[in-house]
Amino acid sequence: MRAVLISTYDLGHQPLGLASPAAYLERRGWQVRCFDTSAGTPDPQALAAADLVGFFLPMHTATRLAVPWIKRVKALNPRARLAAYGLYSQLNQEYLQELGVHWFAPPPLSKSADYPVPQRQGLKPLDQYAHLHVLGQQRTVGYTEGSHGCKHLCRHCPVVPVYQGQFRITPVEAVMADIRQQVAAGAQHITFGDPDFFNGPGHARRLVEALQAEFPQLTYDVTIKIEHLLRHRELLPVLRATGCSFITSAVESLDDAVLEKLAKGHTRADFLEAVALVRQEGLTLAPTFIAFTPWTTRSSYREFLETIRALDLIENVAPVQLALRLLITQGSRLLELPDIERVRGDFHPPSLLYRWQHEDPEMDSLAARLMKLVAQPGTRTEIFAKVWEQVFHEPLDLIPRSAIPYMDEPWYC
Ligand code: SF4
Repeated sequence: MRAVLISTYDLGHQPLGLASPAAYLERRGWQVRCFDTSAGTPDPQALAAADLVGFFLPMHTATRLAVPWIKRVKALNPRARLAAYGLYSQLNQEYLQELGVHWFAPPPLSKSADYPVPQRQGLKPLDQYAHLHVLGQQRTVGYTEGSHGCKHLCRHCPVVPVYQGQFRITPVEAVMADIRQQVAAGAQHITFGDPDFFNGPGHARRLVEALQAEFPQLTYDVTIKIEHLLRHRELLPVLRATGCSFITSAVESLDDAVLEKLAKGHTRADFLEAVALVRQEGLTLAPTFIAFTPWTTRSSYREFLETIRALDLIENVAPVQLALRLLITQGSRLLELPDIERVRGDFHPPSLLYRWQHEDPEMDSLAARLMKLVAQPGTRTEIFAKVWEQVFHEPLDLIPRSAIPYMDEPWYC
């Protein structure tokens, strides 16, 4: 039996979402070919001969990019069973079914003892994916996950409708086996893609200590929510001592009223405390934001830029974070809010989102202008200054700072 697995986009990582199911299927006797369309075109002969074609849909962009491929595969090989898996397959099941997808993998929540080492042979080499830039040098990046799902219920988060507040850890030895093979393939840095690395703080500690013991030169990055940075502050020195280059944290807003709407579990004051704490521990925070929500006002956006500047975080914030707009997916808990009901339109299948319009059309036009602006080339400081000028109508003189460690591919949905 022949299977083809396709990934269209995974934020510049070598897709674990191909390597992991490939290992499961091979163990069960399937012949598997994996294709990452961000790296090249799938072999039409392999597609035509496949009994099963699986699409890995971990994020919104990946799903939109997958739609034409699903149609192409359907036309090329009508007898193949089409499958979809990953977060956005669950969210968009109805639409994907209309396109001919027959089977949807449930979220992996069973306490399985079966953790084959992900099958990474046949994937594009790691050095052809996103790199970490640190002190003017590039590091080859591997990617793995120590857990999946999340125990929190943030209202805007696509993890929530799928995992409903549940998460599962992957045993340390299974994660280390995947790291080991990526180090052998040239990885100098590992991105842990867990939705929140501190959902299981004891597990996180065991994992980074094992990593440091076996690969003392290896660095890594993680994603941790503000609430967890404060609650598990005793673990920050452990991260520092084990090679953590930076911590991504989905701050989303600096406005307490908006944080409340999003049920983020932290306040503006918590964010300020976390910034100080992470700095004090000698770590680097990379905050992410949803700059434009139905509640963003001209003055709150100005205040957002002023705070980033005052906290000396300009180099810590990827430019795209200054322009991202709230995404409302199928099943989103945002749909519970009367405020959202007021501004949203119908679900729009081609974009896989509910469209919404700000009550002040100037905010939507500002968001669109800034999105173009942040896509231009330039350093983070240069782009921030351009955004500032657009918003305050006055130039901003900034002293260029040394860049923090950052990835080629910025983090978003
Ligand atoms: S935003 Fe982060 S912490 Fe909140 S539910 Fe999603 S993954 Fe969990």
